[in-house]
Amino acid sequence: MSALAAARLGYRCHILTREQDSPAAQVSHGVTISDYNDPESLRAFASAVDVISFEFENVSAEGLDLLASLKPVRPSPAILRISQDRIAEKSFVNKRGIATAPWRPVTGLASLAEAVGDLGLPAVLKTTREGYDGKGQAILRSEADLAAAFERLNPKPLILEGFIDYAMEISVVVGRGEDGSISAFDTVENRHRDHILDLTLAPARVSVAIGEAAQEIARKIAAGLDLIGLLAVEMFVDADGKVLVNEIAPRPHNSGHWTLDACPMSQFELHIRAIAGLPLPPATRHSDAVMKNLVGPEEAALWPRIVATPGFIPHLYGKAEARPGRKMGHVTRLFPRGALPGDFGIADALGFLARRG
Ligand code: AMP
Repeated sequence: MSALAAARLGYRCHILTREQDSPAAQVSHGVTISDYNDPESLRAFASAVDVISFEFENVSAEGLDLLASLKPVRPSPAILRISQDRIAEKSFVNKRGIATAPWRPVTGLASLAEAVGDLGLPAVLKTTREGYDGKGQAILRSEADLAAAFERLNPKPLILEGFIDYAMEISVVVGRGEDGSISAFDTVENRHRDHILDLTLAPARVSVAIGEAAQEIARKIAAGLDLIGLLAVEMFVDADGKVLVNEIAPRPHNSGHWTLDACPMSQFELHIRAIAGLPLPPATRHSDAVMKNLVGPEEAALWPRIVATPGFIPHLYGKAEARPGRKMGHVTRLFPRGALPGDFGIADALGFLARRG
């Protein structure tokens, strides 16, 4: 989707990927199939392009360092490193006076017991690296859960987070340009199912104060990181209306896919503009929107009905295989600004795609 946005701005994309027939390569000018840390391929790739970005965090930071010695890499490898490690990420955020769940590093069973003593139960034990969509984490409900969860979660070290009984999960996608200018999309509301994003509602149904607090946090993090590019900030709103950062992702984000249809400039265009050094227009929204992810073989199989349904805006990613839990595409429904319905109205608007019960 970034490659399509780039094409519209007159650029050609060259994709470096480990996959044969990757979705991005299907719509791009060039492709290099390589590991993320093969020096020879990385050098050849860098010589073919003017600026380099990534849209997946589990790439090699060392590979990115090599690329950055040859061509501009945006966002910088330093930002990728912070986002790849939950301890570095939370330390960075807290240092800027922004709240997260309380947390402790966990290096062994003794330090886990100590951390549980500090934070209490329930608590969430997570790997510091390589976790996504709920992989690499466990909820600890009693002392009896500690040893098995510690053994199971890899790679070590781990991090223990206090359990947040959140009222809502929200996020903000923000872009920052070469000149430090910032454009941020409206604060949106995210609903997960089996730890995988199911729905994004734009805008989030929160008070003006909460929506603005989230915007302020996203801008502060983007500026603090000296970001050039795009960044998503995932947050919890707790029972008292306090906004806590959960994690950051320096790339286009699933909770920003609604911008393709509801905004004059999508998150992907903002990404390309930021890394290409173009001006950043304000990230305005002409419609309210609900984005429904199509996850796994069951939802992918609904495609013929989806494309036959008026009002559904369909997006299919071109992934070869529909594995369980894999995001295969999404559907957007638009509403006039200010007319996003409540939960029942949203379920009605999604029809056979609504999760009921
Ligand atoms: P993460 O991999 O950190 O994005 O976590 C995946 C999901 O787990 C989040 O979207 C939340 O629904 C839940 N979760 C993560 N951390 C916490 C926490 N500290 N307290 C409560 N729920 C959490």
